[in-house]
Amino acid sequence: MQRCVNCRTSFTWKQINKSLWLAYKPVACLNCGMLHKVQFLSRILASMMMVGPLFILNFLSPFAGAWNFIISVLLVMPTVILLLPYIMRYRLA
Ligand SMILES: [Zn+2]
Repeated sequence: MQRCVNCRTSFTWKQINKSLWLAYKPVACLNCGMLHKVQFLSRILASMMMVGPLFILNFLSPFAGAWNFIISVLLVMPTVILLLPYIMRYRLA
């Protein structure tokens, strides 16, 4: 998990997840209040992790169809949402 660049306090999963849902809103450290912005590469990685598996499952799968899409969304999205806060990297705003 990302830590505050200033005071080394660890960000919480909830903080980062909220930032992701608010279009990569900067995260303020709970201890010292320093604002952190999402790194550009992390944004690209986040988009790829959301779209990539869906694309692979639905366009390269021999079982393509509406159900396949729905099931893959139900499996992939929660996994990505759960993992992303651990992967995202921030820098000082
Ligand atoms: Zn801090």
